[in-house]
Amino acid sequence: MLSDILDYTRTLLKEVIPPGGTAVDATAGNGHDTLFLARCTGDSGSVYAFDIQEAAIEKTKKRLEEADLHAHVIQDGHENAASYIKEAAIDAAVFNLGYLPGSDKSVTTSSATTIKAVSGLLEKLKPGGRIVLVVYHGHQEGALEKAELLPFMETLPQDQFRVLRYQFINQRNSPPFIIAAEKRQVW
Ligand code: SAM
Repeated sequence: MLSDILDYTRTLLKEVIPPGGTAVDATAGNGHDTLFLARCTGDSGSVYAFDIQEAAIEKTKKRLEEADLHAHVIQDGHENAASYIKEAAIDAAVFNLGYLPGSDKSVTTSSATTIKAVSGLLEKLKPGGRIVLVVYHGHQEGALEKAELLPFMETLPQDQFRVLRYQFINQRNSPPFIIAAEKRQVW
């Protein structure tokens, strides 16, 4: 069966995050992705998780604590992510865009800060590393974000990045889709 969007996101991440690796959850929210990344890197690796909402930070910390896993959970915008990362390079980053289900829908990711964050993290990406974005465009800000993010990702230089879009094209109600950018290996 074709993988659904969240399963495929995790496949794309898991393939490039080794134990001891470094990964970024750019939108911690309820902490599900942070937990997944922390399982991939293991205790010897590092995970950085960002969110601007205090409630998201608390939920993510609690989820990690309950699972006895560790991450740097930082209440700041992902546009500042690169300045917190101590490692020289990262293996992967994930952006689950949009708003936190069940919370204030006005607190949502937006194109300018998302593009700034992606640019900064692409620079820190190891050869072979990936940035995976899940784009929710069924709400007003999401449609704007998609309209600016897609052209940015589509014009990343082909000799440096491989960029794909994964989307079900026969689903109703603007289903989310994935954009993944992989930094080319240097031979
Ligand atoms: N990955 C999360 C999970 O596993 O539950 C869901 C993330 S939710 C769709 C999007 C999150 O992005 C919200 O919690 C929101 O507060 C956060 N957000 C919005 N703008 C942000 C920014 N500039 N930097 C970091 N997080 C941001």
